Amino acid sequence: MSQQPPEPGFHMSSEEFRRWGREVIDWIADYHERVETLPVLSRVEPGAIRRALPEHPPEQGEGFERMLADLDEKVLPGITHWQSPNFFAFFPANVSYPSILGELLSAGLGVQGMLWTTSPACTEIETLVLDWVVELLDLPRTFHSSGAGGGVIQDSASSATLCALLAARHRAAEAPAEALVAYASTEAHSSVDKAMEIAGLGRDRLRRIAVDADRALDPAALSAAMAEDRAAGRRPFFVVATVGTTSSLAFDPLDAVGAAARAEGAWLHVDAAMAGTAAVCPELRWIHRGLEQAQSYCFNPHKWMFTNFDCDCFYVSDRQALIDALSVVPEYLRNRASESGQVIDYRDWQVPLGRRFRALKLWFVIRHYGIRGLRAHVRRHVELAAGFARWVESHPELELAAPCRLNLVCFRHRRGDRASEDLLEALNASEKLYLTHTRLDGRYVLRMSIGQTRTESRHVEQAREAIDAIVSNGRLPGSA
Ligand SMILES: *Cc1c(COP(=O)(O)O)cnc(C)c1O
Repeated sequence: MSQQPPEPGFHMSSEEFRRWGREVIDWIADYHERVETLPVLSRVEPGAIRRALPEHPPEQGEGFERMLADLDEKVLPGITHWQSPNFFAFFPANVSYPSILGELLSAGLGVQGMLWTTSPACTEIETLVLDWVVELLDLPRTFHSSGAGGGVIQDSASSATLCALLAARHRAAEAPAEALVAYASTEAHSSVDKAMEIAGLGRDRLRRIAVDADRALDPAALSAAMAEDRAAGRRPFFVVATVGTTSSLAFDPLDAVGAAARAEGAWLHVDAAMAGTAAVCPELRWIHRGLEQAQSYCFNPHKWMFTNFDCDCFYVSDRQALIDALSVVPEYLRNRASESGQVIDYRDWQVPLGRRFRALKLWFVIRHYGIRGLRAHVRRHVELAAGFARWVESHPELELAAPCRLNLVCFRHRRGDRASEDLLEALNASEKLYLTHTRLDGRYVLRMSIGQTRTESRHVEQAREAIDAIVSNGRLPGSA
């Protein structure tokens, strides 16, 4: 290895890459081994991380060891540890070693999978893995690539919903754009509003439909809204149903919503971003009852299926509807394979042209864990949540704020919003865990979201102890 400082513009040698590659893998393994001991929520002041770093780019290239050292000293203080088993905030964005290795190999190969011909394996493995997932979750056969439908990996559920909306709009092209109306419940994700804006329809044209006592979309209210729009000369064209809402994990009744959408000829898109993973377990497949009526569906392996962000599986029952909406073929992308009609070009299934080899990480995850392994982890999380919910119900000072069906427990202090807010603040200030909140029916609610890869019963037990100490004594055990 050269002892001289590198010449300007020199590439990192393969020798150095091997050496630092090993160091980086060690760094990641060490990090995952100790992440449990780190304060979960970063508490740096705004601007603190930037101030600790040089304001200008280096004139002379630097050695890699300095970069790695900065990671420990300068970067980690500004990291909120999503991979901590004590992370109970938002929804999980869990990862696993096989997924990290898949990401690394995808970077190493550095292929652009925009067309089949630009890397056939990138496309064919993606199609295969998405067909595997149809089996894994027992999704309707209409989403399998052997029929008219198929799946594709998107960066996010937001992009999947946008693509579904664009396909639906294209299908309704006979109607004037200003007549189009979309529907989703008041609890549906904000990405639906965003998709309406991006599509140029505007969020005013999204009707937010009332929910029932369990915060699930009320199909009668949906039918009434669509009938009213139809009578006024408007065209109901797109309905989003949510399987596991972000706030409280409510489940829209897909069979009734699907029937209502079908009656109006509207496209039904089902957003199961976090909860979809549960369907690896046969006993949890009730979440998808009625899904066969959907024209499209998405869920995020990057939330609860041990796969690094970004990885959203997006399915359509009629791939031609999607391709018709999104395909634009300039001369420089023409090629014999595409014109043969025998291959998939995934650039026609998404907004950007270029795409990474994201299927590798999902393929590795499914192969590493197998169906059995994935089920075991999902079942553990669901059982932990059920146990936590029972504990809340039995606690004199706490109460459930929504039914706990999978891995999210919404609860609050019986003494009201102020007490609930104080509880959350004290918990997070302890640095031992991290929870976030929502509001349900205007009331402040804590969310205990259980889905981190390495969350075990002892972590949930510690959380219970911390909550109980604050609620019962006004402070944490061992604090002054
Ligand atoms: C998290 C979430 C989303 C957004 O997911 P992204 O992949 O980050 O776009 C959409 N819908 C629901 C129901 C969610 O919980």
